[in-house]
Amino acid sequence: MRRIAILFIMIMIVLCLLMSCKLNAPKAKEKPLIITTIYPYELLVRELTDTLFTVETLLPANASPHTWSPAPQDIVKLQKADVIIANGLGLETNLEKTLAKTGTKLITVSDYIKKDKLIYQHKDDEHAAENADEQKYEGANPHIWTSPELLTDIVIELSEELSRRFPMHKTALERNARQIIMELFQSESKIRSERNEYENPAVITLHDAFVYFLQYFDIEHIGSVQPSAGKDPAPQQLKELADKIKSKGIKAIFIEPQMNPRPAEVLSEEMGLKVLQYDDLGTVLGAETIADYLCKNWEAIKAGL
Ligand SMILES: [Zn+2]
Repeated sequence: MRRIAILFIMIMIVLCLLMSCKLNAPKAKEKPLIITTIYPYELLVRELTDTLFTVETLLPANASPHTWSPAPQDIVKLQKADVIIANGLGLETNLEKTLAKTGTKLITVSDYIKKDKLIYQHKDDEHAAENADEQKYEGANPHIWTSPELLTDIVIELSEELSRRFPMHKTALERNARQIIMELFQSESKIRSERNEYENPAVITLHDAFVYFLQYFDIEHIGSVQPSAGKDPAPQQLKELADKIKSKGIKAIFIEPQMNPRPAEVLSEEMGLKVLQYDDLGTVLGAETIADYLCKNWEAIKAGL
């Protein structure tokens, strides 16, 4: 009987110890939450931060940052983030005021890009940018994540910034940044060698979402159906575009999944062009990494050359 009592006490002690261990165990620290406004930065930051952070995109997959507005639950989501990564340059049109209120959480990656690497729609804007620093981004095309060179700049700066904010992850961030830069370099080499098989390649897109990529690989951008994102073209602009399509022997017109394709379809019907799709926001590409995103978009563009 005494033995049973001792055994019982021992079991109770072990149980208590186990319980107290569990109670006293430090709660598994939640990973820092990084919210990116658009999906390409989720791809980039996921690879950069590996499993150390939780990374989510704010915009739904079918939304265009040019027109999307946040709902109250999106603002709550932003409040929960430890870091918010936005593009800037006026891309997140209806989100800018909300982002401005997020204080030091906000990282705007276009701040990392030197102004002489930006593409301006009008020469006047480029001139204004040269002369006045505060206007440096006025009129600049915001789709900077489509260029391997600018992506490399962003990876380097973002890795340093996150290392400052999370010094315990510095080594991993630096290692991952080197890996992404190597992959970007490999994608860039592959695309460049394939592109060189074409003589004077040229494309027309629905809006001007890929001009950094096209300029980087020396592919002529004949123009966009929409003079600015979401805005329908004037008859005169369509006529000019039609003339260029004929003179350059363009075969296809590229649409983006997040934008209404109708203006491009109308033009393609009139001009007998194929309608093809690339994906500047990368939500329907099935890309695993940002380097893969570039390759998959190149595959799409190649089909129309
Ligand atoms: Zn766009």
